[in-house]
Amino acid sequence: MKKYITDIALGLWRLFQGMYITMLNFVRPKFTEQYPENRGEKEYFDRFRALLVMPHDERNHHKCTACGICQTNCPNGTIEVVSRMEADEATGRDKKTLDRYMYDLGSCTFCGLCTHSCPFGAIRWSNEFEHSLFTRSKLHMQLNRPGSSLAPKPAPAPVPAAPAAEPAKKE
Ligand code: SF4
Ligand code: SF4
Repeated sequence: MKKYITDIALGLWRLFQGMYITMLNFVRPKFTEQYPENRGEKEYFDRFRALLVMPHDERNHHKCTACGICQTNCPNGTIEVVSRMEADEATGRDKKTLDRYMYDLGSCTFCGLCTHSCPFGAIRWSNEFEHSLFTRSKLHMQLNRPGSSLAPKPAPAPVPAAPAAEPAKKE
């Protein structure tokens, strides 16, 4: 009998807890996202992975050396690095150069292995998430811009002059 009454009291307490939460949310001010009208005001977390991009500077330079590490690490075959051999002006030797960096958004799982494994920081994530299209083939995109090239290495810092030797003391 004692257990029967305890169970009823416990059940009523749980019911009260549930109703309290319900009523609390009933009187709280409501917040509705007015998307897509608020598109320009929305802010996203920096770590949000929406689209893989290859940043270019104002001189159309990127940082991709066409090493292919990201392609090797991608588990879905989403990345295709197409390279060509080009004569290096500095050394006169043939050097691997990026021709096309192809990315298939349709097969990307946003795991981030490519950006983590790139040793040069040549690719990163953008917050651009609106990818609705009528044609799947448009999800297959080239990330390096036409006419772009690898950013030249920064000039080495000048070596500081050695301090002048002190004159020998006369004894
Ligand atoms: S996020 Fe993952 S699946 Fe997408 S391209 Fe990078 S490695 Fe491939
Ligand atoms: S994006 Fe990075 S890892 Fe991928 S090919 Fe270019 S330099 Fe290599």
